[in-house]
Amino acid sequence: MAKEYHPENPELAEILDSFKNSRELGTMAVKSAHEAGKVIIGSFCQYAPMEIINAPGFCNFSLCGLNYDPPVPLAETKLPANLCPLIKSSYGNVLGDYCPFAHYADLVVGETTCDGKKKMYEMLAEMKPMYVIHLPNNPDWERSLEAWRDELEKFRKELETRFNVTITDDDLRRTIKISNEERRQQARIYELGKFDPPAITGMQMRSVMSSVYYLIDKEEKVQKMTHMVDLLEEAWREGKGPYKPDEHPPRILISGAAIEGVKEKTLEIIEDLGGAIVCYEGCCGISNMRRPIDETKDPMTALAEKYLDVPCAVMSPNQRRYDQFRDTLDEWKIDGVISVTVHSCLPFGIESHTLGKICEEKGVPFMHLLTDYSPGDEGQMRTRIEAFMEMLH
Ligand code: SF4
Ligand code: SF4
Repeated sequence: MAKEYHPENPELAEILDSFKNSRELGTMAVKSAHEAGKVIIGSFCQYAPMEIINAPGFCNFSLCGLNYDPPVPLAETKLPANLCPLIKSSYGNVLGDYCPFAHYADLVVGETTCDGKKKMYEMLAEMKPMYVIHLPNNPDWERSLEAWRDELEKFRKELETRFNVTITDDDLRRTIKISNEERRQQARIYELGKFDPPAITGMQMRSVMSSVYYLIDKEEKVQKMTHMVDLLEEAWREGKGPYKPDEHPPRILISGAAIEGVKEKTLEIIEDLGGAIVCYEGCCGISNMRRPIDETKDPMTALAEKYLDVPCAVMSPNQRRYDQFRDTLDEWKIDGVISVTVHSCLPFGIESHTLGKICEEKGVPFMHLLTDYSPGDEGQMRTRIEAFMEMLH
């Protein structure tokens, strides 16, 4: 079973653990950064351009709520109960002052993605300094790119004025370079899933991807990722990877959003029941990591192009995401797709139907798991995953 993979190499084990515990490390880092007088920015989404935030040396932390109790019941005293749990949890964490990242944030940056988030930001602005970037929702129009570039430019000016700093093009080029390297290493981590058997588990992949918004020393993080991939490849070559060399577990692609808050009852169970999560699709998935920011162009244009290309279900029409999904099925030799979405997430819930149709065309088994942050459906999730795994085996 891959889930409890503990590599024999203590150095590798330590690196994997540090990614697993990145959120805890982040809670200490945010306090230290605040005490050192650094500007703390809280954000929620892949569309928030971290290169602009990091350019003047500001620290960026994720404010996405991942837990049910106490933030969700508290949020439901103000927000509709039938709202996506990520939105409720994020809002409730600020309302109850439960989240250290929100507590220390000097500015919260939102973006107009789904309706629930947009309206929640209006209420969040009553509690925290807030800036919302307006995202166009058709990625294919030339005018979307122009409008988006203007929005990013406005955001850059907002940071300059609010915090009395100057963000030069050279500052942006520097942060673009490092975030390109960061994404390149993240893509290498997904590439480890292509090995047969995979050279990393899906849970380990997940912990590295979610560390992006908690480990703020980017250079150190990139070095660590690079070294980790090298060590994982070496362990695999020596037959000491997470699976025995003659093991061939069903290769699963995970698709969806807000997965971090439900990973114990979905991803962990999948690997517990013998599936190998070999890649992820969506805003934190392989396509986003593979596509670098063009370092030869004007940095703001290059940033606008990159961020308009994030594969998220809030875009419409969304052919780019479907094409990338199709390619990933082939490239990672996927045996089964599990789409994990949360209650009331309309964009991903609806697109899940189209992903299912693509799988049907390609003869790849597909399952849609709909869940939320509240406890109570763990048994039901396990039963459904068990049935899917049995079918794949
Ligand atoms: S799924 Fe879409 S809205 Fe959610 S964090 Fe990713 S890019 Fe943002
Ligand atoms: S999971 Fe869906 S509804 Fe929730 S914030 Fe993300 S896109 Fe919006």
